Amino acid sequence: MIYLDHHATTPCDARVLEAMLPFFTEKFGNAASRQHAFGWAANDAVEQARRQVAALIGAGSKDVIFTSGATEANNLAIKGAAKARQGERDHLVTVGTEHRAVLDPMKRLERDGWRLTVLPVDRLGRIDLAALEQAITPRTALVSVMAANNEIGVLPPIKAAAALTHAQGAWCHTDAVQAVGKVPFDIEALDVDFASLTAHKVYGPKGVGALYVRRNKRGVTLAAQLDGGAHERGLRSGTLNVPGIVGFGQAAEIARGELTEEAGRTLALRDRLLNALEATTDGMTVNGALNARLPGNLNVSFEGIDGAALLVGLDDIAVSSGAACTAAEPSHVLVALGLSKDRALASLRFGIGRTTTAAEVEYAAAKVADVVTRLRALSPV
Ligand SMILES: *Cc1c(COP(=O)(O)O)cnc(C)c1O
Repeated sequence: MIYLDHHATTPCDARVLEAMLPFFTEKFGNAASRQHAFGWAANDAVEQARRQVAALIGAGSKDVIFTSGATEANNLAIKGAAKARQGERDHLVTVGTEHRAVLDPMKRLERDGWRLTVLPVDRLGRIDLAALEQAITPRTALVSVMAANNEIGVLPPIKAAAALTHAQGAWCHTDAVQAVGKVPFDIEALDVDFASLTAHKVYGPKGVGALYVRRNKRGVTLAAQLDGGAHERGLRSGTLNVPGIVGFGQAAEIARGELTEEAGRTLALRDRLLNALEATTDGMTVNGALNARLPGNLNVSFEGIDGAALLVGLDDIAVSSGAACTAAEPSHVLVALGLSKDRALASLRFGIGRTTTAAEVEYAAAKVADVVTRLRALSPV
């Protein structure tokens, strides 16, 4: 099997696993145990990881709160910020192409009485900054715009979105899961207030993530969603996942060191894949803008093809036709771009990653061309 689904998850880097292992065995202490060396060793390791994760986004380490992943980080930012501003403001803004871990907490708040604006995108998946500016009012508590789309790889203008948000006294959250470690991401330059991260999309373990929470500016604060031992500045109670956090730190350090080289390599492979597909396959269109896009992302759709048959035919290539969590249904992202249900289902998302080779990309392109040709020959459409 060739793995080309690095937006769904990435394999844990061997260097990450190696860093984690002692924290399952001899260094098993609870990072909150303040009275003995087992606890101190665990706490030191967590604080080192916090510095490593913070460095990847240009933050101070005190601004990083560890969570169980980005779903939790998104929920904490969105529900926590709304709760903190309840009574004062009553409106939220996001975009139709966001991940469900942003859209669903937003919709839950809407059911709880918040007003919600979900902005549309154009056919290339881009937001209209003028429409965003119009949507944000002095009643808006939080605006959430992702840093990189997990299906079409498009990179929205986060910095401009944050500036428009702050002009109305609202706070800005970004789901930065797909951007961080893949493209430069500097939290100070972007000036967002909250950013969600997860380890398993940057060659770290599953089940650990982080929320960046800005301090000492614009009165930014959060209401905790879990109550307990007041870990993580009181914002996220619960015994820390020390091995996972150590792995996240190591993964962040590697990503920071290798980002430029890796982005260049994955971009070259992406272009190679696209060129090979374009040379062999008619009736194919790229979904989403090709400029301002994640280097390792390609998303294409095919005319007159049954999406399910396409995936069945690609039996030795791991790709997806949408986000990992929502197969069978057409992708809400592609529908937001204006694709029909059938066309959205006849789409493939390729995610090129750290270990992808040119030979794998060439093989995948040839296989796709072969399956598409075969399906077209069979089908009367
Ligand atoms: C994977 C992903 C998430 C969910 O992260 P988990 O850590 O798996 O909960 C959220 N947002 C985006 C954009 C993602 O790609």
